[in-house]
Amino acid sequence: MATSISFTTPKLTSSFSSSPILLQTLLFSRKLSASSLHFPASSPQTLGSGTHSLGRLRGLRCFTVRAESENGVEPYAPRHYDFDLFTIGAGSGGVRASRFAANFGATVAVCELPFSTISSDSSGGVGGTCVLRGCVPKKLLVYSSKYSHDFEESMGFGWKYDSEPKHDWSTLIANKNAELHRLTGIYKNILKNSGVTLLEGRGKIIDPHTVDVDGKRYSAKHILISVGGRPFIPEIPGREYAIDSDAALDLPSKPEKIAIIGGGYIALEFAGIFNGLKSEVHVFIRQKKVLRGFDEEVRDFVAEQMSLGGIEFHTEESPQAIHKLPDGLLSLRTTKGTVDGFSHVMFATGRQPNTKNLGLDSVGVKMSKNGAIEVDEFSQTSVPSIWAVGDVTDRVNLTPVALMEGGALAKTLFLNEPTKPDYGAIPSAVFSQPPIGQVGLTEEQAIQQYSDVDIFTANFRPLKATLSGLPDRIFMKLIVCAKTNKVLGLHMCGEDSPEIMQGFAVAIKAGLTKADFDSTVGIHPTAAEELVTMRTPTRKIRNGSSPEVCWESRAPSKSVS
Ligand SMILES: Cc1cc2nc3c(=O)[nH]c(=O)nc-3n(C[C@H](O)[C@H](O)[C@H](O)COP(=O)(O)OP(=O)(O)OC[C@H]3O[C@@H](n4cnc5c(N)ncnc54)[C@H](O)[C@@H]3O)c2cc1C
Repeated sequence: MATSISFTTPKLTSSFSSSPILLQTLLFSRKLSASSLHFPASSPQTLGSGTHSLGRLRGLRCFTVRAESENGVEPYAPRHYDFDLFTIGAGSGGVRASRFAANFGATVAVCELPFSTISSDSSGGVGGTCVLRGCVPKKLLVYSSKYSHDFEESMGFGWKYDSEPKHDWSTLIANKNAELHRLTGIYKNILKNSGVTLLEGRGKIIDPHTVDVDGKRYSAKHILISVGGRPFIPEIPGREYAIDSDAALDLPSKPEKIAIIGGGYIALEFAGIFNGLKSEVHVFIRQKKVLRGFDEEVRDFVAEQMSLGGIEFHTEESPQAIHKLPDGLLSLRTTKGTVDGFSHVMFATGRQPNTKNLGLDSVGVKMSKNGAIEVDEFSQTSVPSIWAVGDVTDRVNLTPVALMEGGALAKTLFLNEPTKPDYGAIPSAVFSQPPIGQVGLTEEQAIQQYSDVDIFTANFRPLKATLSGLPDRIFMKLIVCAKTNKVLGLHMCGEDSPEIMQGFAVAIKAGLTKADFDSTVGIHPTAAEELVTMRTPTRKIRNGSSPEVCWESRAPSKSVS
């Protein structure tokens, strides 16, 4: 942990040191070699936490250091500004950059919209999407929904229930909202304790050094835009009846039957939540498969497992219109027909950067077609005094990445350390049920980049499923460069995958080899031990094609041996 207060997504559990999963992964961290492996940023999403160890320089105020040589930061003009840094948006990236900058001695202000669980042009809240409308509330709902599976599993282990356990949606939402209020308060305190001035209101850029917040103007040497993005519902007839992920996290009642449009990670996570809470769930995806950009076998595996869990997938089926029927229920017309009887239709088809009405066009900040701010590798925009981090730049839209970008920017501007965020081997997770964890290259990317790769896979029934009787399986894949023996990618779908993957990500980032994996002793009996005991490749790919199949990967049950 950092010497100064370090804050990412709050820890939701307090005790983890005895977990065999973490012990297994910690064993790995002892084997790190100095070598490092750099991967291009993989498109799928990521989890993890990036904290830097930073000395607290507050009070020194002697940081007239600039990094103009490498990143084009303009030297100090002999002009007085209200602040060294003015940040618009107090989400993950904005809070991280502001706090670190203040710790490095800069005078910093950040503006943020008033709190609301649902975002709009005029509402948001300190903490941003991750804390109020993303990672945290979503994960709390995932926890809640997983109990139904646990109850079912427990019966094979001897548990009996006199009546079926009942779920109370309003208790869950009330407790979740109380936690969000606590967290937004914590974030405000973190800013205050770092000496950052927090202003409530909507920020708009007036000129390269001036920000307007609800009619009051502030000048700053540097302006940081960290306004994130918002969910987007496409223009189809009846879109007013649809909900987005903000609303889905704060519904007054649980959906009886829900259509979820989209095959990305947010769609799958919500499908798991509502399925676990016993709603009837239909997922409509435009393509043949869910999770574009993920490893192909993982895409197939997770869809199969989710289907077995009761979710109905409608593939290659796009929504055309939503109609509200006299009974109040919704009917969804798609490219293949009509499905009736939905209490809710949710769109999880993408997010848009919050760059409208921000004054960007008038100051000349360049944006891409979808409204994302274009930045260089130091997060500098086309206007030298204006910087942007996080989702608004549409690089890798994840909390730990926004944190990394914010921290790197503070170092660049106020610590005389020009720092580029490192997008190599970002681990990622999908909190579907079962969840996915992954790091490094997919098999398809590895073949494209390295031609000769060895693929190790395991697809097995975990020990727990032997007594639970449920159809749960686990899939694992290790992708190895045939020439160097380095592990290029690791993918897992099954219980605890994200927790397992966070530890193994250290090994992949450090460039460890398959031989390092093989020489690590497993922790028995765990599912994770499989990752250090896969000895025979499932297939060898040479010259980018013609896989040589070595063995059948659908192995039998994994039980104590
Ligand atoms: C449903 C969902 C689940 C997610 N799950 C995960 C996950 O499990 N793991 C993960 O890593 N990531 C997850 N994400 C992504 C993650 O939340 C984002 O990548 C992260 O929050 C981006 O941080 P940011 O600082 O760029 O923007 P944000 O956190 O969105 O913060 C931007 C802030 O700017 C404010 N703002 C906007 N315009 C203005 C203005 N004009 N003036 C003042 N303030 C303004 C907004 O109110 C907001 O508070 C999830 C996202 C969603 C939607």
